[in-house]
Amino acid sequence: MLLEDANYRTARQQIEGFNKTQRSFKTEKTNTTIIQIPVVIHVLYNKFEDSLTDDQILSQIEVLNKDYQLLNDEVNSIPDEFTPVASGSNFRFVLATRKPDGVATNGIERKFTNKISFSDNNDMKYSLRGGADAWDATQYLNIWICRLNNNLLGYAQLPGGAAATDGVVINPIAFGTLGTAKYPYNKGRTATHEVGHWLNLAHIWGDKTDCKGDDLVEDTPPQSMPTYGMPKKQPSSCGHNSMYMNFMDYTDDAGMAMFTTGQVARMEKLFAEGGFRHSIISSKGLLLPDGKTATDNNIVNNECNSENNNDIRGKAKQLKGISLAYGKIDKSGKSEWFEFSNNKVQSNIYITLSELTADFDIALYNANGLLLTRSRRSGDKPEALKWNNAEVGNYYVRVYGYQGATSTNCFALQTQLSKVAFKTNEEEVLVNETEKPEDIKVLQSKVYPNPSSYAANFDVNLEEEGEVNIAIYDMVGAKIKSYNFNSLSGFNSLNIEFGDIQSGVYNLVAQSGDAKFKQRLIVSR
Ligand SMILES: [Zn+2]
Repeated sequence: MLLEDANYRTARQQIEGFNKTQRSFKTEKTNTTIIQIPVVIHVLYNKFEDSLTDDQILSQIEVLNKDYQLLNDEVNSIPDEFTPVASGSNFRFVLATRKPDGVATNGIERKFTNKISFSDNNDMKYSLRGGADAWDATQYLNIWICRLNNNLLGYAQLPGGAAATDGVVINPIAFGTLGTAKYPYNKGRTATHEVGHWLNLAHIWGDKTDCKGDDLVEDTPPQSMPTYGMPKKQPSSCGHNSMYMNFMDYTDDAGMAMFTTGQVARMEKLFAEGGFRHSIISSKGLLLPDGKTATDNNIVNNECNSENNNDIRGKAKQLKGISLAYGKIDKSGKSEWFEFSNNKVQSNIYITLSELTADFDIALYNANGLLLTRSRRSGDKPEALKWNNAEVGNYYVRVYGYQGATSTNCFALQTQLSKVAFKTNEEEVLVNETEKPEDIKVLQSKVYPNPSSYAANFDVNLEEEGEVNIAIYDMVGAKIKSYNFNSLSGFNSLNIEFGDIQSGVYNLVAQSGDAKFKQRLIVSR
């Protein structure tokens, strides 16, 4: 931040004063109000490649949403010391759908400029100086993309400055994850960092090199200077391990992972009643000209008119940062599969299926395709399932129609992750516990020969690829042997060897997904 006029200083003092008086403003990590931020990207290009593809721009929006929700891949590498304070926010960055004058837009404005590169004097923010004028800063986050000289990757204006220059500037070499983005700036963290400034965050070391720098956030340890590159071992200063993986440090993109609870509170305070960016909450930037609600560019398949080719687990649709997806079950017996992952900070899982017009159910599977839990409410009631303290890894959600139910309408599937366990609603449990016996599927299988002596063949026909678990129990129910096979959809012939089990009568139980098979097995030697 470079401007230091008297108005700006006063505004900054007011914002800091407001922060102090609003200490009690708290955000709950569950059941919170989402803060949608309409974003306009002003792309200023002199060479064609700098006009950027839509994909490159969307890749940056996705990074912002993942980083600000603590859904980025690097969360699992946060040192244990810092995981208790790592925190996601309620911010969602969405490309604007409506310009200040009410005309529809995709939130991307491209403009040729005669300037080969810009400096940090804000020329890019004025059309008379070779740039593009800001959209109303009380309604939008303005992001200018332009070549910057002096190796500058980007810069931001803290809240409180002039509206005409309010926003962030990013060099195309450090924007998004593809196209003009160059290693080590190609993971979109320059924008995450600069937007952090736009949301009132200071650098983690407080911009002083004597351990007296203060970022005005209590849960970030003091740090004597910025971290550069990728630390090979934990750096420390001022008697503390450095939180070098904080987005407000200078670590390489790949080494960044988190904001803290204190930083998130500081950012979200700006949007509370009386806060400097409160007006964004009622922005019209995400309305459509016809008055309908905005389509969100972070939602997977928001049109719900795709080929629906995610009908097996191997083709599951990856849920993006915003974790909302639409889909359709318009053929009897069809499933739709979605994939997501939790992380070591946010391990608790909550999934809802809503906007139903038929009896659809959901099931949660682990990375190997093993069924974990289901939600099977009757009729078109919304489904909800919780899976708390879940192992860190990939998960699959299957949406399917009960007894072949179909609908031509789209369903909405939402996954949420949280640091704190999702509360179990008594009523929901009660409804979920009403089993529908017809829903237990029979695994199409055959065991032969039977009786057999040392091994048997287990033929199975699978609707979807997945893990097949086979167990052999003795007549008092003790598990004698178990086998796991990763099998493809369709016909599989599996070989099960008995090893040293004694001659006798056993029960063979096989399970894949929610389908089961049980048969007497005689071993005779
Ligand atoms: Zn900075």
